[in-house]
Amino acid sequence: MYDPLVNAPPGPHDAPETSYWQKSTQAEFPECVDDVPEDVEFAVIGAGYTGLNAARTLAEHGHSIAVFEANNLAWGCSSRNAGFVMKSTGRLGLSAWAERFGETVAKGIAGEHLTALQLITETTQHCPEQCQRQSGGYLKVAHKPEAIKALHEQYQSLKQFEQPVEWLEKDALSQMINSPQAHSALRFTDCFAVNPLLLAAATARRAASAGVQLVEHCPVTSAVSLGDKGVYLKTAKGNVRARKLLICSNGYTSQQLLPELASRSLPVLSSIITTPPLSPEQVDSIRLSPEYAVMDTRVLKYYFRLLPDNRLLFGGRGAIQGKNAENPTFAKRLLKALHQTFPQLKDITRWDSFWSGWVSVSLDDYPRVGKFNDNIYASMGYCGAGVSFSALAGQRLAESAMGETLPELPYYQSQLKPFPLPQFRRLGQWLYYHYGRLLD
Ligand SMILES: Cc1cc2nc3c(=O)[nH]c(=O)nc-3n(C[C@H](O)[C@H](O)[C@H](O)COP(=O)(O)OP(=O)(O)OC[C@H]3O[C@@H](n4cnc5c(N)ncnc54)[C@H](O)[C@@H]3O)c2cc1C
Repeated sequence: MYDPLVNAPPGPHDAPETSYWQKSTQAEFPECVDDVPEDVEFAVIGAGYTGLNAARTLAEHGHSIAVFEANNLAWGCSSRNAGFVMKSTGRLGLSAWAERFGETVAKGIAGEHLTALQLITETTQHCPEQCQRQSGGYLKVAHKPEAIKALHEQYQSLKQFEQPVEWLEKDALSQMINSPQAHSALRFTDCFAVNPLLLAAATARRAASAGVQLVEHCPVTSAVSLGDKGVYLKTAKGNVRARKLLICSNGYTSQQLLPELASRSLPVLSSIITTPPLSPEQVDSIRLSPEYAVMDTRVLKYYFRLLPDNRLLFGGRGAIQGKNAENPTFAKRLLKALHQTFPQLKDITRWDSFWSGWVSVSLDDYPRVGKFNDNIYASMGYCGAGVSFSALAGQRLAESAMGETLPELPYYQSQLKPFPLPQFRRLGQWLYYHYGRLLD
């Protein structure tokens, strides 16, 4: 599998991995253009949620934009995620924001997360199936008794920030999830789950109807800033001059394309398996409704949801290197974790689908959106939580490229921090995985 730290930019012929979503969903993507425009005001690299939302925002302000996607539209994380629409990004909770930057910033961050959620809701309304929205909320589950205290403290702090959350004691939770690894839970009542591929298609259709030129199977192979004269791009289908460039390739950004930017992110594989459809008895035995999206409190988290066709989706960390991404060892590891979560499903010994994608992890646990240098703008580092935030990030990135002032919040006011000794990022990741396993 393509590896951003090793390979040149992906595609155009990198085989699309077949995820459950691709196998089960008839998603209607808009037509793309064949010819690459020689001159555009804004060029966008990457047709995931971020790039498509950024492009739509620019087009709605009357600008000319072309989006270049190495493979088919939304080929990266935006077509392969678990579909949890959460009110967060990065790895900091609101109390951590308050500790690091003060209460006013934490409130501002909460406001941004709410806006992001509202933007996704708006996009689901552009899909005849409302992106198969499941509205029961997001459950963060204490996977062991020792995790309850910290989770309850998070609940109390969220209440202070007036967030719509509920606390579920073990007895109440056991009616919703029958698992020896569910000891109590925090329920985020306004979060929801979607079919991510339908969300990507709806986002792409909105961009196309706003006038965005979408060019797929067209990797950008080099991007050179010409100072006042804009940016010069080489693509697989021809060369382009743009006044400004928006980099929305996130975890898929090749180290070879933009080393200075890519060294500020650690691309990490997140992987998912789906089971064959559970029988009605199996569904009863786990008591999980498709309405809920669930994540645990491990350092190396597992997340799961029951899909509308009774398959169980179960995800967590994957391999470290792209060349190992498809190794069944990693699917077996997820299946083992699934059995620990639901021992009553131990008869399930195979998976229907297994796939992975690259998320971008930042050094200090939160993303950055805005100007990178003269005429290059970038949004990156969502740390695996970007389904809702990417919609707002795309909009904010476009606003920044149009010269508007972004809110005075850490997401928008500084650059991603470079990793010290970036050539050893993978070693650091390997050590972190061992440390996390010990703690969990
Ligand atoms: C398995 C998995 C599960 C996840 N589950 C969740 C979840 O439930 N909830 C949540 O909030 N987040 C989740 N995420 C993260 C979320 O999907 C991402 O944060 C979000 O989709 C990022 O969108 P994006 O548009 O920024 O990047 P992407 O969707 O990754 O798009 C980047 C695009 O850039 C293209 N590209 C790269 N280089 C070039 C180039 N040189 N030229 C042209 N194109 C290029 C790539 O082909 C790719 O399509 C998950 C991620 C994975 C992998």
